[in-house]
This record gives sequence, C-alpha cells and structure tokens, in this order.
Amino acid sequence: MSMQRLAILGSTGSIGTSTLDVVARHPDRFRVFALTAHQSIDRLFEQCVAFLPDIAVVGHAEGAAELEQRLRAARLSTEVAYGPQALDAVASASRCDTVVAAIVGAAGLSSSLAAARAGKKILLANKEALVMSGALFMRAVAEHGATLLPLDSEHNAIFQCLGTSSCTGAGVERLILTASGGPFLHRELDTLDDVTPDQACKHPNWVMGRKISVDSATMMNKGLEVIEARWLFDMPPERIEVLIHPQSVIHSMVAYADQSVLAQLGNPDMRTPIAHAMAHPDRVDSGVAPLDLTRMSQLSFHEPDLERFPCLRLGLDVLRNGCAASVTLNAANEVAVDAFLHEHIRFTDIARVIGHALDRLPPLAPTAGLDDILAADELARVTARQFMAQQTRGYTHAVAVH
Ligand code: NDP
Repeated sequence: MSMQRLAILGSTGSIGTSTLDVVARHPDRFRVFALTAHQSIDRLFEQCVAFLPDIAVVGHAEGAAELEQRLRAARLSTEVAYGPQALDAVASASRCDTVVAAIVGAAGLSSSLAAARAGKKILLANKEALVMSGALFMRAVAEHGATLLPLDSEHNAIFQCLGTSSCTGAGVERLILTASGGPFLHRELDTLDDVTPDQACKHPNWVMGRKISVDSATMMNKGLEVIEARWLFDMPPERIEVLIHPQSVIHSMVAYADQSVLAQLGNPDMRTPIAHAMAHPDRVDSGVAPLDLTRMSQLSFHEPDLERFPCLRLGLDVLRNGCAASVTLNAANEVAVDAFLHEHIRFTDIARVIGHALDRLPPLAPTAGLDDILAADELARVTARQFMAQQTRGYTHAVAVH
C-alpha cells in the first residue's frame, strides 16, 4: 500500500471537510499535498495547522497575504498561492497523485480538467464541471490515462453496483437514481413562492453547501445528476431513471437484463462514498455509523412529480435532447440560485430564469471545445441576469448594491 498524496480542491466546503475527516482516520494511507479555498481564510488556516499541506491556494491576493502572514507566525512552511491558475497548477502537480474536485459550480471546471489532462486519479464531487464539458472531459480522462471515480452518492452507488460491468455490455438495462425530494416534497404548491433561502437549505437528510441544498430543493440537483450519469457511465438517456425515495437509504440502483436490481445502501453521510473512492479498490473505515435496518419503519418509492419540480423537468429535457444545452442549464441555474440565496428572486423564479435561457440560446455543437463552453456559459449568465432584471424590478438595484 503506497501513500496517496491528495490535492483537496474546495477543502473548506462540506465535501472538503468530510474528506479531511476521512484523511485524519488514515494517516498511514493519505497525505495532504494541497488544500484550497476561495475566501474562508480562517478555516483554511486551521486546516493547514492540522494537515500541514505543501501548498494552500485561495481566491485572491489579499487572502493569500493574510494566510501567508498567519502561517509564518505559526512557524508553518506551507507555500501560499492564489487564483485559478494556481488551482490548475496544484491539480496537475507531479507531487500530487489524487485530486478531490470539490469546488462548487463552474469555478471548478478548469482545475478538474487540468487534473484529467495530467492523468490524475480524480475523485469528482464537482458535478457542474462534468455537466458543462461532458464529452470533452471524458475524452481528456481517456486520452491522458486519468482515473475518474464519482463522489456524488448516487453515482458512487451506481459505480459500486456495476462492479466490473460496463454499461455498454454485461446486460446493464437501466440506471435508477434515487432522490429524496428535498424539503418541499409535500409542501402545498401554492406556498412555494414564499420559501426562504434558509428553508430551502434545510435538507431533511443531508448537510451540504448552500448551492447544492437549493438544487436539492428544486430537484435541479437530480437534473444535473442524470446528465452526470450519462457521461460517467456512457449510458443512453432513455435508460436513466429518477425515483423518489424520501429516506435516502438506497443511494441508487442498477437494473440488469435478468431483472436483478442491485442497490447500494447506507446512512446518508458523504464520508461513505468519499472513503470508498479514496481507498478504491480497498475498503476502509469512513467514520459513518452502521446502518441499522431494524430501526427503519419503511423504505418508500414513487415517481417524481414534474409539476412540483419544473427544474427536474428542464434537466430531463436537456438530457433527452442530447445534453447540447447543458452549459446553459447549469449556468442559468447557478445565476438564479445565487439570486435566490441573496433574496433577489423567489424560489419559484429559479425554473423560470433557466427556462428562459434555454428557450433563448442555441445548443452547443458536440465538438465544442473549452473556449466554446466558456463563451456559452458567459452568454447564459448574461441572458439569465437580463431576464431577472426585466422581471424583478428590484433585481438590478439589489445586484448593483451587492
Ligand atoms: P460548499 O459550498 O460547502 O463548498 C464549496 C468549496 O468551493 C469551498 O471550499 C469554497 O471555498 C470553494 N469555492 C467556492 N467558490 C469558489 C471559486 N470561485 N473558486 C475556487 N473555490 C471556490 O459546497 P459543497 O461541498 O456542498 O459542494 C461542492 C461540490 O460537491 C458541488 O459541486 C456539489 O454539487 C458537489 N456535491 C456536494 C455534496 C454534499 O453533500 N455537499 C454531495 C454531492 C456532490 P470557500 O469556503 O472559501 O467559499
């Protein structure tokens, strides 16, 4: 067993801190090469003290200067860098074996791609990167001999249920992604206009960052995940299904031609898929409590209601139309969720903003390169912001102040 040197991109976030929890349990297996944050300097400093990385990366020069000063005062030699190029550099550094891609949103695309192009083992949480660049990303992984392992609990579950099977052979019939339905599964439809950001972020089963929590409440998270599954497992869209399972105990399933259905179960705690991917093909302690099925009164399942969850409908439409509009879907969603979290638009406006951008903008060609993807991302953001400015009189002013 050789020591794995990890670059944890987004170490101060929910996935990042769960990853460090697993690292701390196995000092004989994992060593931290790099930690990165955007602006959480206090938390990053504490992580540097605890894990002694070679390099720490932050978003801006001021944050880097502050971190550097605090590290030196604590007599730590961790090197400090800042900005997107520094993220790409740690993701592709020769001193790093494994990259945990846990930055939220499109901001994680460049460093995830850099890791793929450097042939790293990539533990992918940053689903937005794959949604934006699916074909390009998977080509980079194949061409540069990278290893891509999913951290997202659903995709990690599918990966485990597939075992040695590949989706294109071995009688794999369907991938069934489970979804909790989030905090508003049963809320009266006509009260969804009044939902506050804190209510949307209060997930019944998972503790996560604010952006993915809102995505779970709208079920755009599942819309992004079906696209993620299409690329990760090379699965035709019509063979990817979504099933509501409010208890979040079965994390996803694979149905085979002989009508065997394999499921992966566990308590809803991201340290299980993280530990699985980190140690793969071995298994190690994740720190998660054992699953006690005798304490579970029921496991229930039903189809998603697309009227209640229009964002899921949009995601499924993009999947079934070949994923050519996934950059627009993702970018408009990021802009709309951010506006909702800052109380500039209502919860129910999120789907309207995304729908508008999808109606307005042309799909991308399957041969699109990184520049085309970034241009489409920017155009979708501008289109979404213009729509919000037209629809919501307070939006322009609020954004200008913010
Ligand atoms: P968080 O918001 O908790 O953390 C995001 C991390 O990214 C933080 O370290 C943050 O730094 C950093 N970051 C934010 N913006 C930038 C930027 N512009 N440039 C560089 N770094 C940035 O998110 P989560 O951990 O919840 O989610 C991370 C990813 O994992 C997302 O793609 C999400 O969809 C996915 N995921 C998350 C799950 C979960 O349970 N949380 C489950 C499955 C997938 P700072 O702290 O300084 O802001």
